[in-house]
Amino acid sequence: MKIISLISRISLMGLCLIPRQVIAQTLPLNSNLINFNSTPGETFLIESNARQDYIPLSLQFETQENLAYCGVASIVMVLNALSIPAPKAPEWRTYHRFTQQNLFDNSKTQAVMTSEMVAQGGMTLQQLGELLASYPINVNVYYGSDVSLQEFRQRIIDNLKQPNNFVLINYLRHTIGQEKGGHISPIAAYHKESDRFLILDVSRYKYPPVWVKAEDLWKAINTIDSASNKTRGFVLVSSQ
Ligand code: CA
Repeated sequence: MKIISLISRISLMGLCLIPRQVIAQTLPLNSNLINFNSTPGETFLIESNARQDYIPLSLQFETQENLAYCGVASIVMVLNALSIPAPKAPEWRTYHRFTQQNLFDNSKTQAVMTSEMVAQGGMTLQQLGELLASYPINVNVYYGSDVSLQEFRQRIIDNLKQPNNFVLINYLRHTIGQEKGGHISPIAAYHKESDRFLILDVSRYKYPPVWVKAEDLWKAINTIDSASNKTRGFVLVSSQ
């Protein structure tokens, strides 16, 4: 009895010593979304014929460094994936790479917004486009109010079939069944049979990458951003 009691106490002590935050935990997904980290999620990528961007983006996958930095993390991913000349990253001495800190070490970028402004209020679709355009790349911004579902689907699929260009999506999470507000992340692939896009969600502490129905995502960009009084949308970027 004493031995069992001692083991029990050690086990309880052990449990108490494990802080909850050491366990990586994301929020549960609604049934309309398919977790990339699942058997169907993996199968969709294997079956996809529009996944040119998956590998270059996954090699640069960032976690946003604060709650307002979804746009910053997404920009850093595509700039690194496009392999344009990057600034020095002091934490790695002489090595050059875009980071969520040095993205703003550029007078053209600062002229659009400062890092402090983004940290306080995030960014609108227009500001996302302008921040990207402060670097030597081609940028095309599309508002949800201006594109039909068919055009939305086709423009993104065409991009996902091509190398050296990328798609960033600005959508309302609530519309696709997530918590809760406006968000920005890259899209990495399309699965024709299920008509779903794969979002590489940069808030990796909150949600895994998900496959979302094209129509649900289109509805989620056709929502008004109160900061601009315009709809959200998507941005296509490519090398010059
Ligand atoms: Ca592409």
